[in-house]
Amino acid sequence: MNCDGVIRAVSSYIDGELGLAIQEEFEVHLKGCKECTIFVQQTKFTVKIFYDAELVDLPAEARSRLHEALRRKIREAQR
Ligand SMILES: [Zn+2]
Repeated sequence: MNCDGVIRAVSSYIDGELGLAIQEEFEVHLKGCKECTIFVQQTKFTVKIFYDAELVDLPAEARSRLHEALRRKIREAQR
């Protein structure tokens, strides 16, 4: 997996929705890439704030809004 793959997969990774094999590739990449490690930590932090604010289970619609917001943030971060 390369950096682009990490960026694309990060929201699934945080949600625990990556397949085991992909998750392993993801983590192997993180071990060797400081930038992606920081990126994943920042994204996790953002997600945590969102979840704490919204509490409990998110309806599907809110989840897709979250993912959309994350994708926007990720695109901004890549500039
Ligand atoms: Zn990377």
